[in-house]
Amino acid sequence: NMEPQAIDIKVFQTILLTWFKEHGRWFPWRESGLSSYQLLIAEILLQRTKAATVDKIFTHFFNVYPNWKVIASAKLEEIENTLKPIGLHKQRAERLQKLAQKMNLNDSVLLSSRAELDAIPFIGQYIGNAVELLIQGKNKPLLDVNMARVLERYFGHRKLKDLRYDKYLQALAHDIVDHPDSISLNWAILDFAALVCQSRVPKCSTCVLQQTCTYYLTVVE
Ligand code: SF4
Repeated sequence: NMEPQAIDIKVFQTILLTWFKEHGRWFPWRESGLSSYQLLIAEILLQRTKAATVDKIFTHFFNVYPNWKVIASAKLEEIENTLKPIGLHKQRAERLQKLAQKMNLNDSVLLSSRAELDAIPFIGQYIGNAVELLIQGKNKPLLDVNMARVLERYFGHRKLKDLRYDKYLQALAHDIVDHPDSISLNWAILDFAALVCQSRVPKCSTCVLQQTCTYYLTVVE
């Protein structure tokens, strides 16, 4: 397929930001004024978990664990119990505690250096991008399977199965969120993926992107 042109990207950005103003979701981790601690934990909990599920424990979690230090020294079992309602709790508790122990020693270095972050084994590309976007204020994509699905349907197939290594998809996602309101654009795509361009049955017939969507024009119509 042809590479998307700047004008195609502009159309996609404009339509989605307009859609987002009316239909975007609200979550506590999208409030302004959150600490880097809260922002990073929220993104870790959001991996492979629905936002509505994370929402259930978000406030409680930060009441019990207000900072890295408290997680670092907590009993692992207690962290597991707090995370139980959202699943994957054993693995998450262990990783959060390991991360907290590192952060507690040196969070300013870890949060300002992508290389240092990437050196932590369970911190993947998604979290690295999230830190750059939400904490460092850079234009980076929250590229997960959901964002990948929307981009792939709209712009045409990606090149590789594993999105972390797909240079085409990576570059496309970067171009799309390279915008003065990069954070809103990221949230817009994620909300759109959850509410409209859903994985099993996308709501194409009422979709604001259908006139310019590759999937709609080639598969649905
Ligand atoms: Fe997704 Fe369908 Fe909209 Fe295309 S037309 S973006 S496939 S919901």
